Amino acid sequence: MLVTLATSNPHKVEEINTIAKNFDIEFVLPDDNFDPVENGDNFIDNAVCKVLEASKSGKTELYLADDSGLCVEELNNEPGIYSARYAPTPNERIEKLLKNMRGIENRSAKFVCAMVVANKKGEIIYKVQSECKGRIMYERKGSNGFGYDPIFFVEELNKGMAELSQDEKCTVSHRGKALRQVLEWLRNEFC
Ligand code: IMP
Repeated sequence: MLVTLATSNPHKVEEINTIAKNFDIEFVLPDDNFDPVENGDNFIDNAVCKVLEASKSGKTELYLADDSGLCVEELNNEPGIYSARYAPTPNERIEKLLKNMRGIENRSAKFVCAMVVANKKGEIIYKVQSECKGRIMYERKGSNGFGYDPIFFVEELNKGMAELSQDEKCTVSHRGKALRQVLEWLRNEFC
């Protein structure tokens, strides 16, 4: 079964296809000019914006979009949906977050991932939101992953997110958890 993934990032498609292989589902990129406006005020709404834009192509029967970010308890869940735009570069985003956390003892944080499935008529047929709980470390650790991984300590594995292999990250991450739920749902409904 083919599903369009509402992203312009081919690496995301590749990563998701590695997991989806076991489910007999293949994800494909939307058309080249895919550039949705994300103006929701939460992760689910932003994923809905993306999936509805992608579904306009009518390219496949089904469409999946995700939206994710880091929510820090003591910062009123910032950077949240603004995670990618918190500062201009990944390095500056980490620096800004560590600076804003100076003097704060409660380091509780979570990665959140929303995933939404639509059909080609533009109807939303499935929504899920998953979390990976942890803490913001005082300094960077590890060199794997991307984004805020170097400063995120994963409660469940007692390790930094950037210290995990891709497989380990996939078993505990917000995105891995949401994706497995979507794939199981798709398999039950359509395969
Ligand atoms: P997106 O919605 O998946 O594009 O994620 C938005 C932003 O959230 C990314 O640019 C990262 O800054 C942050 N983010 C999301 N997932 C992760 C993760 O697994 N590790 C580190 N940062 C992440």
